[in-house]
Amino acid sequence: MEYTVALYIRLSAADEDRDGESDSVVNQRDLLNHYIVSNAEFSDKKVLTFIDDGYTGTNFDRPAAKEMLEMAKRGQVHCIIVKDFSRFGRNYIEVGDYLEQIFPFLGVRFISVNDRYDSKNNTGFTAGLDVAFKTFLHSLYSKDISFKVSNGRRAKAEKGEHLCKLAPYGYQKSKTEKNKLIVDEETAPVVRYIYELALGGLTQTQIAKRLNSEGVDTPLVHRKKKGTHDSRGWTAKGEVNYWTKANVGRILRDIRYAGTMVNYRRTQIAPLNKKSKAVPRDEWVVVPDTHEGIVSMETYEAVQKLLPEQSDKPCNVDNRSLFSGKVFCGHCGYALRRMRGKYYYFDCLSHVYVSSERHITDRIYEHEVKDVVLSAFIKTAELALIIKGEMQTAKKQSNTEQATIAERLIKLSGKEQQLSEQKARLFEDFAAKKISKEQYIESKSALAAELETIKGQKAGLESKAQSFQPVSEANPVIGLLDKLNGIQEVTPELAAFVKRITIFDSERIEIQFTFADELARLCAVTNTETNEYAEVV
Ligand SMILES: [Zn+2]
Repeated sequence: MEYTVALYIRLSAADEDRDGESDSVVNQRDLLNHYIVSNAEFSDKKVLTFIDDGYTGTNFDRPAAKEMLEMAKRGQVHCIIVKDFSRFGRNYIEVGDYLEQIFPFLGVRFISVNDRYDSKNNTGFTAGLDVAFKTFLHSLYSKDISFKVSNGRRAKAEKGEHLCKLAPYGYQKSKTEKNKLIVDEETAPVVRYIYELALGGLTQTQIAKRLNSEGVDTPLVHRKKKGTHDSRGWTAKGEVNYWTKANVGRILRDIRYAGTMVNYRRTQIAPLNKKSKAVPRDEWVVVPDTHEGIVSMETYEAVQKLLPEQSDKPCNVDNRSLFSGKVFCGHCGYALRRMRGKYYYFDCLSHVYVSSERHITDRIYEHEVKDVVLSAFIKTAELALIIKGEMQTAKKQSNTEQATIAERLIKLSGKEQQLSEQKARLFEDFAAKKISKEQYIESKSALAAELETIKGQKAGLESKAQSFQPVSEANPVIGLLDKLNGIQEVTPELAAFVKRITIFDSERIEIQFTFADELARLCAVTNTETNEYAEVV
């Protein structure tokens, strides 16, 4: 079968999306032809063009697309090229099915020119597809949906409604009035107590220490006891949670405790991106007297004068750690703080707030941690390489075994055919009175028994053939190999694979990867030794 490239062009129905001139059929065709011409590998390939003019991308009920996909299923199309993902389809679940499952299965290569996506460079659902896909999703939704949503929210915010999912510590959401805060009699006294201590001249750290020594639950612990596992707003990520300067300060600076609603202090970085960023103070939506205060405005303002100046610059994203929120103390489980010295280092601050014991005595420099993570990645790459080799050998073996089985099945079928014919002849002989009834019955039962045996053997072989599950190389761990090839440093893309770093001291650092389970599974499947890997520290 000649290698065939399909160019797919879609012009949407007029009202669906605001396709500009750039999406006209002519422009899409020019772009795709230019791509073909400028990539030498396509110079000698057969090229077919499929055009759906005036069809929505929200389903695949399009004549040209259907024809192209049919041909792909029959093995008559080997590569599909589109201008961007949304030309191929606008239903991301269906498009995802094609990209992740169907095309890899059919061995069809998929290229989206403007997304710079080429399935050849992305085996399995690796970050490459992930990133390209997010951009695609973003382009689908950013313009309309999230704009509409945030407009509605803004109007509510300006009315002073409480828009967060959870009420701030000290309050509850009213059950009768939507988006209204009412005082929580259980926790409000703690808030009042914190303000009192502050007015009494205690620093935030001293207040935190006092609350810890008196065994007062932190907002996060309280929330968990109430059965809410959403940690939103209270960022302590360790299993153990203490009052700190930070969470005391948060309460002391929150004007909502004086009955004033504040919205829009943070905003999403981008639609569909869960991360948020701080909004400058003068853009907050502030509405006074929207709910009952836990402290008076006078108290609130008096406390503000006692608090140290707070810089209001938004957090610099570039300056954030690669492993933000993932580094923990091996002794107390508390999230380690990233400290700034001549170099960044990690330290456990729980001794400041709860115990007198210092857990981490040497400085654990961030660059050292990076080195450890790097070497763990290198070990993983070595291991993944071994696994890949094992998988290929296993595949070859299973291929030969399957071939043997197929051969034997053919032989058995031949034999079966022969015996059936013999059986037919036997009856003819009997009917023509060439053999006696006794001879006929005897020979017939012998043949029947032989046929039965063959059927049994065939069934056995068939079930054995079915038990050969092809080992997929389109696996996230194997896909990682490409990224780890010649790895020099831990990039943010790679850091995303780090789930947790637990530091005991500079000699003992444990790293958990997000793909650990999958890696262990692959090791088990391929009988690869993991001993060395397990000792990576
Ligand atoms: Zn600690």
